[in-house]
Amino acid sequence: MHICVLGAGIVGLATAWELHRQGHTVTVVDRALPGSGTSGGNGAQLSYSYVAPLADASIWAQLPQLLLAADSPLKLRPQLDPHQWRWGVEFLAACNAGTAAATTKRLLALAARSRDGFEAMRAELRPDCDFSATGKLVLYRSPAGLEAARRQVELQRTLGAAPQTIVTPEECAALEPALAGYHRQIAGGVHTPSECAADCLKVCQALAAALSARGVRFVLGHAVQGFDHRGRDVAAVQTEAGPIAADAFVMALGTASARFGRQLGAHVPVYPLKGYSITVAVDPAPGAAPRVSVTDSARKTVFARLGDRLRVAGMAELVGEDARIPRDRIDTLVAATKAVFPRAARDFDVPEPWTGMRPATPRGTPLVGALPGAPRNLLFNTGHGALGFTLAFGTARELADRLPPGA
Ligand SMILES: Cc1cc2nc3c(=O)[nH]c(=O)nc-3n(C[C@H](O)[C@H](O)[C@H](O)COP(=O)(O)OP(=O)(O)OC[C@H]3O[C@@H](n4cnc5c(N)ncnc54)[C@H](O)[C@@H]3O)c2cc1C
Repeated sequence: MHICVLGAGIVGLATAWELHRQGHTVTVVDRALPGSGTSGGNGAQLSYSYVAPLADASIWAQLPQLLLAADSPLKLRPQLDPHQWRWGVEFLAACNAGTAAATTKRLLALAARSRDGFEAMRAELRPDCDFSATGKLVLYRSPAGLEAARRQVELQRTLGAAPQTIVTPEECAALEPALAGYHRQIAGGVHTPSECAADCLKVCQALAAALSARGVRFVLGHAVQGFDHRGRDVAAVQTEAGPIAADAFVMALGTASARFGRQLGAHVPVYPLKGYSITVAVDPAPGAAPRVSVTDSARKTVFARLGDRLRVAGMAELVGEDARIPRDRIDTLVAATKAVFPRAARDFDVPEPWTGMRPATPRGTPLVGALPGAPRNLLFNTGHGALGFTLAFGTARELADRLPPGA
């Protein structure tokens, strides 16, 4: 089959990778260069064991503080947009223990499949992507937060997740010497030795280069504009470079998938959850910058070592498609880095600010396959929210399962 993949973010590229492996003829379309959307500057975590959704019963108690505190990592700017309101209602409806546990189960299984897919790709391509498998520590400031984490670890143990250990503040500092000092401000943490990190942009670039060399056609720098129909099917995608006909199409346009999905008659419950990152050159002195990935749960900020750089990412804003980078958000990330790892950077004044829109579904589970109302030969692979890098190779394999094998 000839399959046209719309979107050259990590999800579209992982999809193209799996479809090409299955013998399909593949074309990839993007308005920009591979990885220049949300996949470009994300938190870099291959977070296979930390998949608990944002939609959780604990949100109700945290909501006033999250919405009202000036330095809150969560921000809501209500829009005159019924799509935002519908998403918000569906999100709140998912904030209960039963739904969160079911989502966790689904995402753990998907993440395990994704790890297999990513590792197979890595073994074959050996991409230069600052990959590390140094494990992850999630820090909790309050005993109550640590207790809730203990329950989550227990739930995940029953679901067959990778080993995770509750650790004391002193053990956190022993596992990651750059935490010495900050460890006195925390109640403890969860350590997962098997977690990994990598530069998602570099993975995208390596995938695009390898696929291109293997005969996959890339139509880059040309936006998708619409679709031509043949009966109930899509016959061609209309792009700025002209129409591209194919047997089947994969919608992997990140947050833009919702708008195009609506055009095609499907409800695609994906809304942008805006976040920010900074990247700083590390101080190479021993114990200055972390090697273990660290999440400071109180600040909802993640820290990942990428070679001689440190990526710091966080925040979640429901503000629509707004690509601006307010100075105060970057200042907050710089302040968080100085608080947790005061010696990490040689120069905190050049933090490489970045913003991206997580394509989030209310429950936190991606949409993979056909959707009601949409043309039969259009499959979706979108809605990966905060876990797109982690889950991309898993949903790519799920999507490939839904198509007959290629020649
Ligand atoms: C601050 C932050 C931190 C994050 N940290 C992590 C993390 O640590 N681990 C993790 O697993 N995930 C993380 N994520 C989430 C992850 O980055 C996303 O889930 C993932 O990048 C989504 O990939 P995608 O391919 O669906 O979307 P994108 O990367 O946005 O790709 C969509 C592509 O579609 C293209 N496009 C859009 N409209 C059109 C059009 N009209 N025509 C043609 N092309 C179009 C865009 O140019 C883009 O290349 C983070 C996200 C943010 C914002």
